[in-house]
Amino acid sequence: MLNNYGIDIWSDDNFVIEKGLAKVNFKSKPSLISIVKEVREQDFKGPLLLRFPHITKKQITTLYDTFNTSIDEYNYNGTFNAVFPLKVNQLPTFIHPLIQNGKEYNYGLEAGSKAELVIAMTYNNLNSPITVNGFKDKEMIHLAFIARSKGHNITLIIEGINELETIIGIQEETHLPCPNIGLRVRLHSGGSGIWAKSGGINSKFGLTSTEILEAYEMIKENEMIEYLTMIHFHIGSAMNSIKPLKKALRESGHIYAELKNLGAENLNAINIGGGLAVEYSAYERNRFYSLREFASDVIFTLRDIAKQKGVDEPNIFTESGRFISAASTVLVTPVLELFSSEYDLEHLKLKESNPPLIEELNLLFKDMVKKTSYEYMHDAIDHMESLLTLFDLGYIDLQDRSNAEILTHQIIKKAISQLEVEDYEELKRLDENIQEKYLLNFSMFQSLPDYWGIDQEFPIMPLTHLNKKPTRSASLWDITCDSDGELPFDSKKALYLHDIDLNKEEYFLGFFNVGAYQDTLGMKHNLFSHPTEVNVVFKDEEVVLEKVIESQTIIDILEDIDYDTSDIKNRLKENLDINTYKILEKYLNENNYLKTIWSYND
Ligand SMILES: *Cc1c(COP(=O)(O)O)cnc(C)c1O
Repeated sequence: MLNNYGIDIWSDDNFVIEKGLAKVNFKSKPSLISIVKEVREQDFKGPLLLRFPHITKKQITTLYDTFNTSIDEYNYNGTFNAVFPLKVNQLPTFIHPLIQNGKEYNYGLEAGSKAELVIAMTYNNLNSPITVNGFKDKEMIHLAFIARSKGHNITLIIEGINELETIIGIQEETHLPCPNIGLRVRLHSGGSGIWAKSGGINSKFGLTSTEILEAYEMIKENEMIEYLTMIHFHIGSAMNSIKPLKKALRESGHIYAELKNLGAENLNAINIGGGLAVEYSAYERNRFYSLREFASDVIFTLRDIAKQKGVDEPNIFTESGRFISAASTVLVTPVLELFSSEYDLEHLKLKESNPPLIEELNLLFKDMVKKTSYEYMHDAIDHMESLLTLFDLGYIDLQDRSNAEILTHQIIKKAISQLEVEDYEELKRLDENIQEKYLLNFSMFQSLPDYWGIDQEFPIMPLTHLNKKPTRSASLWDITCDSDGELPFDSKKALYLHDIDLNKEEYFLGFFNVGAYQDTLGMKHNLFSHPTEVNVVFKDEEVVLEKVIESQTIIDILEDIDYDTSDIKNRLKENLDINTYKILEKYLNENNYLKTIWSYND
């Protein structure tokens, strides 16, 4: 069986393998490698982020269509509304197409900081909702009043009574129209998954039941009841099961209904936060529900409670971000080197007379046939260990050691190639010993911060060679000088890649589903900044590359961390002739990633 890298688990039909190539499963179905080549022809080397706005659009459409179908099915009287939480991806290359594609649904934005709120009040379509979460100071609340004055449909979701006091204060002070008010409730039911701490009684966020009652009284006393429109909760990101959501719906549904019965006459919405999961694993499914089930459960539960308590069915808001953006972005990393390539046979320099163990290795290499490959490989690894001991004791020299290393690697390679077809299982047992290390032109800290920080898996697949059996158990290294910049081989989630001669052909790896959280969580370790990015847009059958933004130049990176760049240039000029300085200046204006590693002329 060919290794398909779990594409049927994680790709949701967004990408397919055809004729050995990873292709975008849309319109003219371009291969990813053809897109990468086109970008690199414009002299953009290093890692690439390919964004596919049509995938974001598909997710938005799927979300609305699924909920609206359930609404029809259950004859539900509320509406479905959604906002994109900006913290999941604030970059303009992602946000502009999202706003455009969401317009027909009135898809809105959620902001959790002042800077995010400024993005929302600048670019959100006026008819689409804005929700504001997180801790707020006076300025942030004032910004929301200003957004309301501009005509935005904005809801301030309060996290504490003090925020409500500030809202009342600002209204008295400015007489600006008041935004709608939402109450974030602190549920006793928690979430599931690693991020569950956003829900539950010890959660960082939300009002206790006592505070909810207190807030209601305060709103009423200040004659602001018309602005109280929303109940909100968020039980955490990447829910793998639907059970905690059902509990949270019951709890918040009853709070909604009770407040309505108390006299909150304009209260009309329950905002269920985010948390819809996507599949990141290439080995097993981790999400145990479908979007249809999710939608039906929300609508069924809320209808049930409304009926029980005799109130109108609430409008539904969601703030799912990961579900909308993850699949839209693919990180492409060029492979710079396979570490064992330095053990090519051409470097072998056997002497007239060699130490016996080396003669032995040479014979193993020459005589190895399929039947003996497993055994000979074992012998070779044993011999190699003995030879290293002999070297440490001073009995063999550096040339002998080099010969031993080359021969052992060649024996392993030969064994792998002889075993590959039928004895895959046998091979697997040896994987730990015979890994190949692939050096990738990217920074894990910058581009996969969730892998570094919380061991988040991402699907990995080469863009080419997919009709050939991958034979090397792989560990991946980034180009930072940090040993944490490594994705080690894991026999339980084994990654196999192809044995490539990089002098003859290029090899690129794709990391998929990286469109949520990675872009701005990433950090500039070793001063590797954001990769070059491009939006891949389909105009009829044609593929158009829009908004190519090159990775920052070295001089810009230094400016960003507050170096005085003219001082840098003046100092660098000292003691250099003008031509040498000109070359240096050209380098300052290139990005920080490697161009190539093996060729001087390239
Ligand atoms: C982070 C967050 C979201 C988005 O969560 P996803 O798991 O990305 O869907 C939604 N609402 C609030 C309040 C959040 O803090």
